Amino acid sequence: MNHLQPGDRIAVLTSGGDAPGMNAAVRAVVAVGVSLGFEVLGVRWGYQGLLDGDFMPLDVRAVDDWTRRGGSELGSSRCPAFREAQTRAQALRVMRDHGVRGLVVIGGDGSLSGAHALAQDQLGMAQAICVIGIPASIDNDIGRTSLAIGVDTALNTIVEACDRIADTASSHARTFIIEVMGRECGYLAMAGAVAAGADAVLYREAQLGDDELLDQLEAMVMRAYDPLHPRRRVLVIKSEGVHMPVDELKRRLDERLTANGRPVDTRVTVLGHIVRGGSPSAQDRIIAARLGHAAVRALQRGMTDAMPGWQASLVAAAAPIPFDMDPYVTFWPLAEVLAETRDISAGVSEIAQWRVRLLHEVAPFLGG
Ligand code: ADP
Repeated sequence: MNHLQPGDRIAVLTSGGDAPGMNAAVRAVVAVGVSLGFEVLGVRWGYQGLLDGDFMPLDVRAVDDWTRRGGSELGSSRCPAFREAQTRAQALRVMRDHGVRGLVVIGGDGSLSGAHALAQDQLGMAQAICVIGIPASIDNDIGRTSLAIGVDTALNTIVEACDRIADTASSHARTFIIEVMGRECGYLAMAGAVAAGADAVLYREAQLGDDELLDQLEAMVMRAYDPLHPRRRVLVIKSEGVHMPVDELKRRLDERLTANGRPVDTRVTVLGHIVRGGSPSAQDRIIAARLGHAAVRALQRGMTDAMPGWQASLVAAAAPIPFDMDPYVTFWPLAEVLAETRDISAGVSEIAQWRVRLLHEVAPFLGG
């Protein structure tokens, strides 16, 4: 392995969709990197910054106070050209020109695909630049980690928003349908519903047809407003990935309830990008710090094409690379991470199926 030595230069970037806790991860990379004697460069604007050589030297003072800040201080971007090998070759040239020996990429599925491609492009090369990915995505759609950076903060934001909506809903005996982010993965909706005491949750992985979805929703709302024991409010959390738009869902539900002689005052709230922003939770700061630490130690040891995962032991078939310094962290080849990520999006991974089974089990006890 190609171990890094004190005086070597490493770089860190954030890429793709921003997630609360990315800055805490950068800060950890800088603090640990500097303490091991590395020079640390921050790359502005993700992969685009790698191509442009948009680097800034980072020391502990430069990242002072970053742990608590939301968004990405380095800036993030989408860089479609990075999918092409010749663009990545340009990025490798720029890094070599700047003496970079190791790179930490903090981001979601696409960003980790870019990190994997960069590592694969260098197979067999002498003096390859080591590449380590850190999972950051509010959707919790990344394989081989039980949580990605940003998920916990996003969940807390959803719970806070739902609590506020519950106050107004129960003042008027209303039903609210609340849409949360998560195109391919319904985790935020599922976990948010349990934590917020929602009455029902709609998520893509359940694979319900439109009629089945409306049947279930109608039955639940009819039960909730049973004249003998009427509920004060009904909250339904809908994942963005459920393809029926919220307004159509509301209209068709209202039609059914009216036809049943139970007109209900239904409202819709789309939380959207509010869930992305904000100061990271304590949990996200801690995960970011520990994954950032692990990533730099991995570079120091010459590891490449890998990702530290947080408490990933739930995955039975997998064989992690253990990390002697932190029992909650294990390393995984990026190819494995990306394969499971694809399976999570397709709803066929062990973890996605386990989530659906568990939610089926707890669905009757939702609410309150
Ligand atoms: P996220 O990392 O949040 O999933 P994106 O999917 O937009 O966000 O990916 C971020 C960036 O990662 C893209 O703009 C592109 O530069 C790079 N990327 C995405 N997919 C690939 C790929 N298959 N190969 C190389 N780079 C990729």
